[in-house]
Amino acid sequence: APSDLILQVENIEVIYNKAVQALRGLSLSVPRGQVVTLLGSNGAGKSTTLKAISGLLGLENGELTAGKILLDGQDISRMKPHELVRAGLFHIMEGRRIFEDLTVEENLTAATFALSGRGLARTPFELVYDYFPRLAERRNQRAGYMSGGEQQMLAIGRALIAQPKLILLDEPSLGLSPILVEEIFTIISRINRQTGVSMLLVEQNANVAMAVAHYGYIMETGKIQLNGPTSRLIEDQDVREFYLGHG
Ligand code: ATP
Repeated sequence: APSDLILQVENIEVIYNKAVQALRGLSLSVPRGQVVTLLGSNGAGKSTTLKAISGLLGLENGELTAGKILLDGQDISRMKPHELVRAGLFHIMEGRRIFEDLTVEENLTAATFALSGRGLARTPFELVYDYFPRLAERRNQRAGYMSGGEQQMLAIGRALIAQPKLILLDEPSLGLSPILVEEIFTIISRINRQTGVSMLLVEQNANVAMAVAHYGYIMETGKIQLNGPTSRLIEDQDVREFYLGHG
């Protein structure tokens, strides 16, 4: 039977360079159609968690040594990154990995190549331009010449093109002005509500993340310390003091 959980991470452990243990039995889940945020201080293991899910640990000499990861009920723990894209996962990495020498539209086109065989009816550029009119205006501009905010929009647009079941978002607010952060998160929220795509969001900016997410996990040194609906977490005294910056 189809699970109501799009992602289940069960007790995973990750070791880098056969020496440094970054995750120590971490478990979390993402209900279908929801935005879940993963918070924690520097070095807690947030990016490592996303890389474990999207199969990218190998690139950094990291290894999943225990536990299990299910995407829509299917065990993906041993899948390669390109197989995961076809399975419906899209990871927007920290630092917005786009092709700087390609135009906006070429970047969007490139996002479809990995998907050949999944039978997308047509390339939904218009869907992306509807969410990000600014990308439509700049469709023939080289991506490397755009502002940080526009590049982040393009990175999210590439995920939309892939029409995944789950988007992993690593620090979309990184390096952006408060106004742009506000704008990007408003759009992230709208994309979730209108397309129903599920999201796992890693953020340093806990205030904005809590505002868009339905549910939150807080991790420290490789495992979850606290979790709950964001409406409840923002009332928690420790969370307010240590993560939201007001007591
Ligand atoms: P930040 O917000 O600073 O990125 P984070 O919560 O995402 O922090 P990770 O980047 O996942 O944390 O790092 C978790 C732990 O794993 C840290 O102790 C870090 O030093 C270690 N680590 C991360 N990447 C590597 C790597 N490629 N090789 C060795 N150790 C690593």
